Amino acid sequence: MTTHSLAADTPLATIRANIAQSEKIAGRPTGATTLIAISKTKPVEAIEDLIAQGQRVFGENRVQEAEAKFPELRARYPDLELHMVGQLQSNKADDAVALFDVIHSLDRMSLAKALATAMTKAGRQVPCFIQVNIGEEEQKGGCALPDLPQFLEQVRALGLQVVGLMAVPPADVEPSPYFALLAKLARDHGLDQLSMGMSGDYETAVRIGATHVRIGSALFGAR
Ligand SMILES: *Cc1c(COP(=O)(O)O)cnc(C)c1O
Repeated sequence: MTTHSLAADTPLATIRANIAQSEKIAGRPTGATTLIAISKTKPVEAIEDLIAQGQRVFGENRVQEAEAKFPELRARYPDLELHMVGQLQSNKADDAVALFDVIHSLDRMSLAKALATAMTKAGRQVPCFIQVNIGEEEQKGGCALPDLPQFLEQVRALGLQVVGLMAVPPADVEPSPYFALLAKLARDHGLDQLSMGMSGDYETAVRIGATHVRIGSALFGAR
């Protein structure tokens, strides 16, 4: 295992510096953005390499893969934080609630009910982002834009803790209007956390107010 905790030339160090610079440009406090290292498809060794550099917040998009990699890592590094960023099936709610610290992909009532039941059973409240289908794309997950106000109300009524909004803008177009729309929706609904920005557009997202960026390939290399 390579350790280079103080090296300034790692992808992690570069991304951290870029985030700090974008925060500064936007007049936001340094450290206002949480970097989530998306480790899907990557082996435990690659994750440990980032842990050795000080990274503690990770994200996965499949329950089974996260279950295979993280319990062992958590036993050795108790301060790890694990985020679920992928489509979640209702029948995986118990496993997800047991494993993840935050869920970014709450997007429909059936899942909200399954999560609420699982959280009650486990005696554990896992904060959730509502995923919004910000580009109104047919194939994409996320709550439809017109449904958001009612969905939010229903999810809160179930007792789920909604902390913010999450989105993946359409590919290959300028993302800033989508980030700005997500930020406006969050403001309108009294939510202060924004999960937006990936390897190709995280600096734009940070300038528009992202509190969480989800970065995979820029950190770990191509998948
Ligand atoms: C894979 C994934 C990411 C990270 O994507 P990169 O382009 O590799 O940074 C972020 N968010 C979600 C929901 C993902 O599935």
